[in-house]
Amino acid sequence: MGIEESLPSGVALTSVEKVLGLARKHSQWPVTMGLACCAIEMMAAGTPRFDMSRFGLEVFRASPRHSDLMIVSGRVSHKMAPVIRRTYDAMPEPKWVISMGACASSGGMFNNYAIVQGCDHIVPVDVYLPGCPPRPEALIHAVLTLREQIAKEPLGADRAAIARKAEAAALAA
Ligand code: SF4
Repeated sequence: MGIEESLPSGVALTSVEKVLGLARKHSQWPVTMGLACCAIEMMAAGTPRFDMSRFGLEVFRASPRHSDLMIVSGRVSHKMAPVIRRTYDAMPEPKWVISMGACASSGGMFNNYAIVQGCDHIVPVDVYLPGCPPRPEALIHAVLTLREQIAKEPLGADRAAIARKAEAAALAA
């Protein structure tokens, strides 16, 4: 009897999923998306004091084509919104988004004509990080939270469908 027959069905695939999930969750390359004061804390997270590189995450990329994580750090102006969406669209799948700070998540104190009231109107958000501004440790915690989500995603998960669902839910809210 071959090894395939002696294993319960699905064991091999589950193991592959676990290995790939492990690899994916440890390989985020964030795209540079600093929009306002929250970006200062995001940059601080990469300094030796907070040492984001402990988690292999210090390589912020200037090109969305090299990135799989967008950290929207700061309020989103209506003028900037199409740029954010274009940048997101240029990132290859699979890709994830962290909304950093009150302004990115809800407009924050800027409830006015110039500011989008939440970046989830523009891109699908996987993790919302509260605070004004969130401290670097909180950003690191958000990244680790996202990694737990990534590790649980099944192999071949339709990220685009998940993103569309999140967008629809955000627009309906
Ligand atoms: Fe600035 Fe606070 Fe808004 Fe962040 S949440 S962009 S720190 S005002």
